Amino acid sequence: MNIHEYQGKEILRSYGVSVPDGKVAFTVDEAVEAAKELATEVTVVKAQIHAGGRGKAGGVKIAKNLDEVRQYAEEILGKVLVTHQTGPEGKEVKRLLIEEGSKIKKEYYIGLVVDRATDRVVMMASEEGGTEIEEVAAKTPEKIFKEFIDPAVGLMPFQARKLAFAINIPSKLVNQAVKFMLGLYQVFVDKDCSVAEINPLVVTEDDKVIALDAKLNFDSNALFRHPEVQALRDLDEEDPKEVEASKYDLSYIALDGNIGCMVNGAGLAMATMDIIKYYGGEPANFLDVGGGATTEKVTEAFKIILSDPKVKGIFVNIFGGIMKCDIIANGIVTAAKEVKLDRPLVVRLEGTNVDLGKQILSESGLDIVAADSMADGAQKIVELVK
Ligand code: ADP
Ligand code: MG
Repeated sequence: MNIHEYQGKEILRSYGVSVPDGKVAFTVDEAVEAAKELATEVTVVKAQIHAGGRGKAGGVKIAKNLDEVRQYAEEILGKVLVTHQTGPEGKEVKRLLIEEGSKIKKEYYIGLVVDRATDRVVMMASEEGGTEIEEVAAKTPEKIFKEFIDPAVGLMPFQARKLAFAINIPSKLVNQAVKFMLGLYQVFVDKDCSVAEINPLVVTEDDKVIALDAKLNFDSNALFRHPEVQALRDLDEEDPKEVEASKYDLSYIALDGNIGCMVNGAGLAMATMDIIKYYGGEPANFLDVGGGATTEKVTEAFKIILSDPKVKGIFVNIFGGIMKCDIIANGIVTAAKEVKLDRPLVVRLEGTNVDLGKQILSESGLDIVAADSMADGAQKIVELVK
């Protein structure tokens, strides 16, 4: 799960990690009010969306007085911001962070991720802050320094010092940088983050080491341990179909194609997407209804697929093991009654209660194309959506 920059900074602040003073604003008036309260020489107006690259896209503006704060807030609020991370459709800005402006001497990069190869959290640091770190990694990987962290002892101060020296933090500020890194690591571990990225971390003219940006992502599987983090979820930033699916505990990811897929089991779901592509089609989603799905769950899954206007046809591919084919069949029939089934539907059922499932479908009066195998079903649906 992703959160906004201002929320990430609040968490960092609560751990004693230095961030600028700032306030969230949902309207232009709130933005001006926030700037008044901050009463700083320079105020930064920052678009809050779940994507980076806002600076280049005009989503970060430096205001020298309250009139400029108003002007920039009017400009940015409601604007659809297109950055290299939003995709071409962009994201509408609904919140602003009104923040104290820092006099930047130099920008750095600090990031924490879980490294699967070493089974450890790794802290990465670079002198090339403010720019896209992916580009630094591709063109000048020697400019990124890494420390792998032993989970038994956590980030050791000597490791943080090593990184601070490697990226040329001025020596009198190394202690501040070390404190920053140790605090950031503590947040990462305590809150079960999957990513913590500070780009840029800056050294200011008045010798402070401070985070000007903050991106925190959390491991969804650990969210049950952090209701305070869960409360920060912003549904506006998520695909409404995915939000709906998560209510019913369905693993659903929206994709760009036009063939809706309903499958049980993540492996079979992946294989189904592969075979659709193999026969020249494009899947509109990944959907795993899971092993123990009920008729209700299947009904909801079917409705979610049908609610996507991009979907021109549906392929149901079920291997009934724990999941029984009659449950799937009942779900399809119920959903098709509730929402008009106005697109071609190909169904391949195999496994437990397959005959009963087929019988339910054939007696339903629905226009269903039966498939004998996975390959047969994939070819049929690809043909039908053409
Ligand atoms: P993004 O990564 O989405 O572009 P950032 O928060 O990193 O957004 O902001 C982009 C740039 O704007 C930063 O690299 C920094 O130069 C400048 N900036 C951001 N916040 C401040 C601030 N509080 N004071 C001064 N400059 C800032
Ligand atoms: Mg940034």
